[in-house]
Amino acid sequence: MRKRVVILGATGSIGQSALKVARDIPDRMEVVGASAHRNAAALADIAREFPNARCVISGEEGGAARLVELATMPEADIVLVAIVGTAGLRPTLAAIEAGKDIAVASKEILVMAGEIVMAAAARRGVRLLPVDSEHNAIFQCLEGRDTSEVRRLVLTCSGGPFRRMPREQFAAATPAMALKHPTWNMGRKITIDSATLFNKALEMIEARWLFNVGIDRVDVVIHPQSIVHSMVEFVDGSVLAQLSHSDMCFPIQYAVTWPERVPNSLEPLDFSQLAKLEFDAPRRGDFPALDLAVRAGLAGGTLPAVLNAANEVAVEAFLAGRIPFPRIWEVVARAMDECHGSAHPDLEQILEADQAARERASVWCV
Ligand code: NDP
Repeated sequence: MRKRVVILGATGSIGQSALKVARDIPDRMEVVGASAHRNAAALADIAREFPNARCVISGEEGGAARLVELATMPEADIVLVAIVGTAGLRPTLAAIEAGKDIAVASKEILVMAGEIVMAAAARRGVRLLPVDSEHNAIFQCLEGRDTSEVRRLVLTCSGGPFRRMPREQFAAATPAMALKHPTWNMGRKITIDSATLFNKALEMIEARWLFNVGIDRVDVVIHPQSIVHSMVEFVDGSVLAQLSHSDMCFPIQYAVTWPERVPNSLEPLDFSQLAKLEFDAPRRGDFPALDLAVRAGLAGGTLPAVLNAANEVAVEAFLAGRIPFPRIWEVVARAMDECHGSAHPDLEQILEADQAARERASVWCV
């Protein structure tokens, strides 16, 4: 079956990989909609290449409403949410209400509002198909199996560019150093998150919602080669893993063609070329993002939204040269200490907590 796909954030790193998949398997994937925030030139290229796609710029007046229209267009089967930050939340909820399956790359959505998004998807009977490579791997290993048979989910983590850096050197880490990811080529925000391990922190919370397990059953292991994308350990002690090269086209294609697998032109693994696959424990004391995620995941409510919002502000400040690298962790921890919210918030309360955390964090980032 050919899936008709809307790509929110088509000009970004994930969006461009999704277009590659569409070129690679045109019989299976048709692009019927695409959005960009400001990059009109790149969107015009997409419009030329995919003349049937409705194209929307979200970064101008009325853009938010047009994004919702795009996400709910009757011609679409699936909406791929690949917008960086929290702007994808409302269009995602609208798409769910319109009965669309969601291929979710934007982890912020589930981190902020996992309970609401999962409940809405269950009520409307739509699927949330994970695109993030780790969650896509777990999704593949589970194959619809009930998570009561799962002992733990094991997210793999490259460790980022500072995996071996002694803690005393963190203060001297520059944006240019942090933007050099050893194995993945991604957008700027997520690349910094990979250096602090906040990327893994967000993924722990995301996994908690996607697979309905307590965050105490979501573990992290350092795997510098980024070949094993994550694993599931079942109650009988067996572990299933999913492997491929580190190319987001793999998980995007699986999310689009699911439940089927179809051939493509992606490079297969050559085991004779894989010298070794290493695994190690994360340095939790030196990279406090993981423990902050556990705290936010256990508390629930608005705390994950606070973690996410403060991190976004701190990453921007670090990239702009306003704060040193380790301050990112401090800003997030302080926001979590100082911003108190409700236990089962509605969407408005979540957005308020997000805004309040941003305002406070901005004050600490000048
Ligand atoms: P990029 O920064 O490369 O792309 C972001 C996309 O979102 C662009 O199309 C951009 O448009 C658009 N956009 C930016 N701001 C807004 C806004 N306020 N409203 C609407 N659209 C906006 O990000 P990535 O592709 O790297 O990441 C996208 C999401 O996917 C993130 O949540 C990230 O965590 C997640 N993800 C990314 C992975 C990766 O490999 N890159 C892996 C797994 C998850 P424009 O170009 O016009 O600015």
